[in-house]
Amino acid sequence: MAEKVLAAVRTAPGHTELRELLMPNIPDDGALLKVEVAGICGTDVKMYAKPPFPDPVIMGHENVGVIAKAGRTFSERKGLVEGDRVFVEHYVGCYRCEWCHLGEYRHCEATDWRTNPDARRYGYTSADNEYHLWGGFAQYLYLPWNSVTHRVPDGVSAELAGLVTPLSNGIEWALVTAGVKYASTVLIQGPGQQGLSQVVACKQAGASLIIVTGTTKDAARLSLARELGADHVIDVTREDPLTRILELTRGRGVDVVLDCTAGAGAAPVLLGIDALKRREGTMVVQGELAAFPDFPLKKLTEKSIALKSARGHRYRSCELALEQLASGRFPLEKLSTHSFPLAEADRAIRTVGGESGEDAVHVSLLPWAAA
Ligand SMILES: [Zn+2]
Ligand SMILES: [Zn+2]
Repeated sequence: MAEKVLAAVRTAPGHTELRELLMPNIPDDGALLKVEVAGICGTDVKMYAKPPFPDPVIMGHENVGVIAKAGRTFSERKGLVEGDRVFVEHYVGCYRCEWCHLGEYRHCEATDWRTNPDARRYGYTSADNEYHLWGGFAQYLYLPWNSVTHRVPDGVSAELAGLVTPLSNGIEWALVTAGVKYASTVLIQGPGQQGLSQVVACKQAGASLIIVTGTTKDAARLSLARELGADHVIDVTREDPLTRILELTRGRGVDVVLDCTAGAGAAPVLLGIDALKRREGTMVVQGELAAFPDFPLKKLTEKSIALKSARGHRYRSCELALEQLASGRFPLEKLSTHSFPLAEADRAIRTVGGESGEDAVHVSLLPWAAA
């Protein structure tokens, strides 16, 4: 095995350097993952511009690879040996707290960078910490015993497995958080990788009506939404979405609204409140707004709306996402639009951010691809 590891290291906000790092010594209860694919999402765009942890940081929080080296205790505890392909969640729970015992390690404080400056989370944690390989934008990733790993089924390529994160969020938010089920009517706002993943989850669960909104520049994504199972798509720059939604639901409104516009401001939330059925609708938001002046709380109360937060995923949703990918039931490979070698990490993130003008849905970094 090489003594050095090539990594794309964020050294300052909006700046990445390719560096050779020392291969860490792996403890008996740890392992090394040879990273095949590191998926990039909108969160990376935000973290690149405004890092939540001090640099240097190796980004990359949606990681798939092969176990390259495993300590004996690690193998015993995890049931994983060298050569196994795994998807690694970005959370690194403590496995001592109540959340971890409930299987809700996504809420564990040991991995919550918002409240714990010493948190461990792939793609977030400083490379100055022990074992330093804490992100997927590198040839290898360090796996402690408390990393959360999922075995990738045979027949699922690494690149396809790179879609587990958005897909597991789709399953978690639509089915678990919002309770979409057989015959549900759903409005999904925003046809990005996240919105499109919600389409697949809702379709698989038996939703009877799936409406997806986007803008004129989303034309290709809206047609992909149709291909993945959306019944209707609405270009909100060309027609009034509320009128159309009420028309499609015979004036009734939808059962569930999933706001996947991430950062589009107040408009999708306001539309969601109006598009929901007369009583007891559910809306899931992933709001970035620090303040919401004139929020129509009265309307929310009158319609008895349940407003819920999208916040990551649990273990089961990742397993279901892997099963979904293995089934080949939906042309999910069409979500993978771009891939870049390690040396182009900066360009890869900026492509997700729309800076290149290309229409990228899901972008992967391939640490072993030739530059
Ligand atoms: Zn992500
Ligand atoms: Zn914990």
